[in-house]
Amino acid sequence: MTAPATASVPETLEVLIVGAGFSGLAMAIRCRQAGIGPLRVIEKAADIGGTWRENTYPGAACDVPSHLYSLSFAPKADWSRMYAPQPEIQGYLRDTAERHGLMPLIQLGTAFTGATWDEARAVWHVKTDRGPLTARAIVSAMGGLHHPAYPDLPGRDAFTGPAFHTAAWDHAVDLAGKRVGVIGTGASAVQVVPELAKRAAHLTLFQRTPPWIMPKHDHAIPEATQARYRRLPFLRQLERARLFWLHELRALFGFTKVSKLTKQAEGLARHHLAKAVPERALRAKLTPNYRLGCKRVLISDEYYPALQRPNVTLETGDIARITEGGVTTADGHAHALDAIVYATGFDVTGSFTRMDLVGRDGLRLTDAWADGMGAYQGITVAGFPNYFMLLGPNTGLGHNSIISMIEVQARHVLDCLEALRKGARAIEVRPEAQARFLDRIQTRLANSIWQTGGCRSWYLDAEGRNTTLWPDSVMAYRRSARRARMADYRLG
Ligand code: NAP
Repeated sequence: MTAPATASVPETLEVLIVGAGFSGLAMAIRCRQAGIGPLRVIEKAADIGGTWRENTYPGAACDVPSHLYSLSFAPKADWSRMYAPQPEIQGYLRDTAERHGLMPLIQLGTAFTGATWDEARAVWHVKTDRGPLTARAIVSAMGGLHHPAYPDLPGRDAFTGPAFHTAAWDHAVDLAGKRVGVIGTGASAVQVVPELAKRAAHLTLFQRTPPWIMPKHDHAIPEATQARYRRLPFLRQLERARLFWLHELRALFGFTKVSKLTKQAEGLARHHLAKAVPERALRAKLTPNYRLGCKRVLISDEYYPALQRPNVTLETGDIARITEGGVTTADGHAHALDAIVYATGFDVTGSFTRMDLVGRDGLRLTDAWADGMGAYQGITVAGFPNYFMLLGPNTGLGHNSIISMIEVQARHVLDCLEALRKGARAIEVRPEAQARFLDRIQTRLANSIWQTGGCRSWYLDAEGRNTTLWPDSVMAYRRSARRARMADYRLG
């Protein structure tokens, strides 16, 4: 897709939204509905869609039900499956953007590289790789899962065959009939492995830690049901509410701690594994030795069967190095490969800190976050007026749809933007309010399952602090963050 012609650049934008994925589009719709503008969305890629544009690996789909993984104010009655595949979600985002008239506001192929607060004018001077912009407010809608992380393995550049990340799939490479190595066994791997296993001559899966996996029970949504949802929207809303509460119940039963629920869920997952994998040795390799919930719990009905295909090997030995012709494990075994797929996740912390953001009095975001990232309600940071984050620190979820968090955040940001519209030059969270908030959630996180469950995950930063997940229910976040409490902000 080429960048559409954008309206002539206004001198100072009221709001600049960075990123045209789920959160950026949601924010843009909300701003337009509230009549806030001039508004511009910049997007580094050549198309909108964010993570759903980038993750095009075979089998890519959402592991949250479609009717829940969509915007409440941009409903879609005709989701084809319980768990929509990537192209359908990407199509939904495009339709939504078009239906809400967002495309002329979106400047594609424009990467945000940094911004500096101008106290005298109360504006942000924004740097992009396509020239500067000026905006009163910036909404960062960049998410945390878009900088592919590659493992730091010796010889990674030595491999002579094609090698790529699940989030940067090379569709020019035909893996049919090839010996393919997949490194990693997270959410992306459990989706891609069954698909690759069907076409590769041989697939070797390099597992460091086995994931906990629950049944998925994916199914097509019958056309009659889709038609009913179209005709009677309240039925679709009812389905959304049912799914929301089904997921939310996990939080209400205390999923954030090791509890009775953990044990019960582990029983279900073990049963799923035992039913799918009769062979004892393979089952042992696939049995996690940490508590369920410590890492993201995966869902799949196809992963375990795929691992039992005659052309698939599960390798659990440590990778010693990558060589010209494949992967050598610590036991000295050289696995000859034609292609390597890195299903090794994302650099989450890095994606927040790598941009050059300079706030009030020359404060850099990297310095403000020298001891770990943190933001009031995951949205605002003291020292950075008129700067708002969607999907910021500690707002990720392990139990429910992230879209519900985005909607809460968009509402909060809208309150702040309204304050600017009503005459404030700047709005900035009070440091004491931010500190109170961070204390509250870090106390809650201290003995959470992510800390005590016996695993290491991308939820934790290099110091072992959880700066990515919200430690409570979505409803609790809604109560905490939906409206911006003006007492917690300083209006300038
Ligand atoms: P991930 O969960 O971070 O998994 C990365 C995998 O790579 C892990 O199994 C990890 O092993 C392994 N790994 C990393 N370095 C390694 C090394 N040096 N040697 C061997 N193995 C190594 O990444 P992901 O699967 O891409 O998922 C990331 C996030 O994206 C998910 O948590 C989820 O939020 C999102 N996602 C969502 C969906 C969806 O359907 N909604 C689908 C895909 C992804 P260890 O476990 O031992 O670290």
